[in-house]
Amino acid sequence: MTYKILLLPGDGIGPEVMAETERVLNWLGKNRGLSFTVERGLVGGAALDAEGEAVSEETMKLAHAADAVLFGAVGGPKWDNNSFDKKPERGLLRLRKDLELFANLRPAICFDALKDASTLRPDVVSGLDLLIIRELTGGVYFGEPRGIIELNDGTRRAVDTQVYTTGEIQRIARVAFSLARLRSNRVASAEKSNVMHTGVLWRQEVTKLHEAEFKDVELTHILADNCAMQLVRNPKQFDVIVTDNLFGDVLSDEAAQCTGSIGMLPSASLGAKDPKTGRQPGLYEPVHGTAPDIAGKNLANPFACILSLAMCLRYSFERLDEAKLVEQAVEKVLNDGLRTGDIMQPGKTLVGTTQMGDAVIAALESLSR
Ligand code: NAD
Repeated sequence: MTYKILLLPGDGIGPEVMAETERVLNWLGKNRGLSFTVERGLVGGAALDAEGEAVSEETMKLAHAADAVLFGAVGGPKWDNNSFDKKPERGLLRLRKDLELFANLRPAICFDALKDASTLRPDVVSGLDLLIIRELTGGVYFGEPRGIIELNDGTRRAVDTQVYTTGEIQRIARVAFSLARLRSNRVASAEKSNVMHTGVLWRQEVTKLHEAEFKDVELTHILADNCAMQLVRNPKQFDVIVTDNLFGDVLSDEAAQCTGSIGMLPSASLGAKDPKTGRQPGLYEPVHGTAPDIAGKNLANPFACILSLAMCLRYSFERLDEAKLVEQAVEKVLNDGLRTGDIMQPGKTLVGTTQMGDAVIAALESLSR
């Protein structure tokens, strides 16, 4: 199988971290028999400047045709005052919408070498490996009616609407159960069924799907507020957490903070699997933004982007051995004491983006010897 990969580096540190990720990809091609073709496109501010749109029709065509999209980051001060439809972020939103990427996967993994970087006690986060699956295209961020209206008495009223359908809940729950089977086989489903109708439906539909198709997976239900508390009390109790768009937005950032630096956090957004071809759209991106304060200075940590490639190997290409190898290479570099500025600790060696890339390639070589 030859995979078609679309690289969209974007703005700021996006191209810098993507360049190191591409080196890892090329290494896998040469040394692990990964067969792929690479297309490239502009997105965000770079695309606005060169093509007049945050993502062009041509690039969207490439994205639709690709087996996976690797995305850097978009935005920066140059485009901050642009009108809403000329914002760099529109490029990412369009990709998510047009590819129907409804499942957002945010792992929170604490590498042992970085356990002191967390604000939580090392014994609480050491060995942490959980996956938050957030519904990305429904719920209160999209529900109608929404808006702010003037009332007759001169005050105003704001409305957002939380909406979920059976189909939306079942398809995200199916992703969670399926991925749990590749991990520790446990799913916690978080909602507010004590006070919200969408929460009641969410719990019922998740339970129904579990009974019908995933009895082998251990399922627990948890109220989202308790989930937030448990994440900082004892995050290691969780394996997979599945939740809606709003709660997922908050809980995934909370879980991320358990692990330390934003420069270490990968993510994936997946669409529905085509039952005929088995193809499933996937977009992989670091959680961080374009970091304008350090862009162009060879200071960015490339690990979030490289670990996003590892997610791509796992979820889009089902190359679990290669995914693990890349993660182990990152871990080895950390254990060897190399650090970019964002994760620097006393007694460690400060290096730049390209040196981190060199070290990952060297670690890949030595781990496969
Ligand atoms: P940011 O993530 O870019 O930066 C926050 C802080 O973390 C900065 O101090 C930065 O230097 C540091 N940082 C981030 N990634 C790092 C890395 N890989 N290595 C080392 N340090 C790193 O967030 P921000 O400052 O709020 O936003 C900057 C720009 O990025 C804005 O235009 C924003 O809209 C955009 N943004 C884009 C995305 C995306 O493309 N998905 C996400 C968030 C922010």
